[in-house]
Amino acid sequence: KEAGTDRTLFGQIELSKKVAQAIFDMGFEEPSPIQAKAIPAILEGKDMIGQAQTGTGKTATFGIPMAERLDPKDGRVQALVLCPTRELAIQVAQEIAKIGRLIDVKALPVYGGQSIDRQIRALRYGVQVVIGTPGRILDHLSRKTLRLNNVRMVVLDEADEMLDMGFIEDIESIIKETPEERQTLLFSATMPAPIQKLARQYMKNPEFVTISRDKLTVPLIEQVYYECKESQKADALCRVLDMEEIGAAIVFCRTKRGVDELVASLESRGYFAEGLHGDLTQTQRDRVMKKFREGKAELLVATDVAARGLDVENVTHVINYDVPQDPESYVHRIGRTGRAGRKGIAVTLINYREYRQLKLIERVTKARIQRRELPSMADIME
Ligand code: ADP
Ligand code: MG
Repeated sequence: KEAGTDRTLFGQIELSKKVAQAIFDMGFEEPSPIQAKAIPAILEGKDMIGQAQTGTGKTATFGIPMAERLDPKDGRVQALVLCPTRELAIQVAQEIAKIGRLIDVKALPVYGGQSIDRQIRALRYGVQVVIGTPGRILDHLSRKTLRLNNVRMVVLDEADEMLDMGFIEDIESIIKETPEERQTLLFSATMPAPIQKLARQYMKNPEFVTISRDKLTVPLIEQVYYECKESQKADALCRVLDMEEIGAAIVFCRTKRGVDELVASLESRGYFAEGLHGDLTQTQRDRVMKKFREGKAELLVATDVAARGLDVENVTHVINYDVPQDPESYVHRIGRTGRAGRKGIAVTLINYREYRQLKLIERVTKARIQRRELPSMADIME
């Protein structure tokens, strides 16, 4: 693919020379996975829900098309970004200013705790992008020191966190001040029901984009293992989850308590996981399974006993967080994936003491379980 004369390619994405130069100056060489997937659709003006873990370049995912779509000659507020915290508003404003540096985009962070008079003066001077926390934005709206009637793009960054912080009504009031024909983008690490409701109410046929990597092309069930310290297993699991293109995954733990602890630990890291084990009531178990089957939970963390007979269509990964007690259990567990002619990947995390058990499994099942190195952060960003 080649770009036109006033255009330059960023990966496969065609950008104006000035925006492309600015991001190359920022050290970006290639789009991150979410950028590669999402930016073209945003450039076309589509509404979007983007889901990707922290540190994967979501800011530039909306910042780049925002800079491309801004009218540099129009001094009115054309784009609005809502963020949960002051720190984030500042950081996002800086990133947008950098991306728009060569077209002189004026981006202003607007947040509580800073002198409102100072913000009013800056707004009067003319800004094109306002990045703010919901409370302070509402404050400006009621003082009529901020007008959103010319806004063409609204971004809800870290939407799940804003909802957790109780900003939902503020967000709705703010969105109502913007024109109907705006483009609306929502980024979130998780997709709880209130976000889906927001999306239905305020977005037009949003595209869903989730980060994925599809480098692994494999025979039916590819079997791999990673070595790490027991204390690093949760981190290792998260890195594996970030690296792999997960449709749905079942993570097996040895004990019920292990399941509960891992669910809590995953949730604290921003993953949406459901636990399943024998101490839950049948109603609870049914509810969990229903969520998992319907794709409302991407990760199911389970003990062996609860997982028996499980047949969920789109399970792409089985992850043994603890090495299975015996080879039979291994076969049973990994058989949850690679069903109906589809490919599947079985990942086993082992600490140094579990190595012998893994070798036994390999011998008995005659499987070839390949050793893998844990991906680095650089691999995940790549
Ligand atoms: P997220 O919002 O997904 O948590 P950020 O947007 O904060 O992630 O980006 C994380 C870091 O990665 C930032 O320092 C950002 O400048 C950098 N970054 C973003 N996209 C790229 C890229 N394509 N190449 C290199 N670095 C990037
Ligand atoms: Mg972010």
